[in-house]
Amino acid sequence: SREWHLVRRPQGWPVAEDFALREVPVTAPAPGRILVRNLHMSVDPYMRGRMNDVKSYVPPFKLDHPMDGGAVGEVVASAAEGFAVGDHVLHGLGWREYADVDAVHATKVDGSIAPLSAYLGVLGMPGLTAYAGLFETASFKEGDAVFVSGAAGAVGSLVGQFAKIKGASRVIGSAGSDEKTTLLTGKYGFDAAFNYKAAPVAEQLKEAAPDGIDVYFDNVGGDHLEAAIGALNVHGRATLCGAIAQYNDTEPAPGPRNLVAVIGKRLRLQGILVADHYGIQDRFVSDVAGWLRSGELHYDETVVEGVENATEAFLGLLRGDNTGKMIVSFTG
Ligand code: NDP
Repeated sequence: SREWHLVRRPQGWPVAEDFALREVPVTAPAPGRILVRNLHMSVDPYMRGRMNDVKSYVPPFKLDHPMDGGAVGEVVASAAEGFAVGDHVLHGLGWREYADVDAVHATKVDGSIAPLSAYLGVLGMPGLTAYAGLFETASFKEGDAVFVSGAAGAVGSLVGQFAKIKGASRVIGSAGSDEKTTLLTGKYGFDAAFNYKAAPVAEQLKEAAPDGIDVYFDNVGGDHLEAAIGALNVHGRATLCGAIAQYNDTEPAPGPRNLVAVIGKRLRLQGILVADHYGIQDRFVSDVAGWLRSGELHYDETVVEGVENATEAFLGLLRGDNTGKMIVSFTG
């Protein structure tokens, strides 16, 4: 079985030499464990932070050890009660072809309800992030005007659509290409979208939201956050979910220059960690599965084939090669 190891901590943008694909033997599972042949693995922006040796909300990857992350696969051997060969499971040992998983950390998933990869995206961690970040953290209410950055990505594409479904007065998204902004105002039903690479964010946001915004869902940080603080109306709320514009920075990024506006406008800027929100998992799955069935909700995936291409898929994610969730599949 092949697995990806981090062999050097990236400085700035990761490069191929920071990783190694290594062959390891596959062994029979010990009691309480299952052997899983991975079918799909997730690459996520937060993994960039785990490549640094800094204390954070998830521990750093260890050098010369396999990296980990969300994956879905098929049980090929089981020494755990309740798991049979052929079951499909969601677990945390991605970045490898075969995973020796403690059954306590595996969740059975049903491929007849949704494609297995959806449990890594729309029905999984990114979906819950969008749902909790909008409805809980940002206290979204009907009639709010919502702006989301990273809007063509896994989390952002769902935030905008959830807001539309729940009666937002206006939904605006930003993304890094004209193809992506066309998708936002087309298939995803956003009211307005702009390409943040084409002109300054603050100018484009003002044009797209002449009456201001009530909620900002931040996936990007930097100029986007500053522009959103400028556009937020009195008592506006921002969910600080990610700051992908600075994940490869080697120096701390400057803060928004207009932070003082938070006072006069009584804004609330609040961070979210999805791990705090698994308590609403059932409500999330039931709402999202319903919206998928009714055709109100759309989602996309960008699929890269082959374990050997996983690090390249991760770099592609940081560059914006993906539309919707970036998935690496081992099914070919
Ligand atoms: P995405 O699917 O959105 O993929 C990342 C996207 O970021 C790329 O497609 C790219 O799109 C965009 N991007 C890259 N560089 C920049 C830049 N300099 N400026 C603006 N956009 C950029 O990833 P996810 O949906 O998985 O994650 C979105 C955000 O949510 C990330 O910041 C992530 O860290 C965060 N997150 C936080 C969680 C939490 O618990 N707090 C949980 C899950 C995700 P484009 O072409 O538009 O540039």
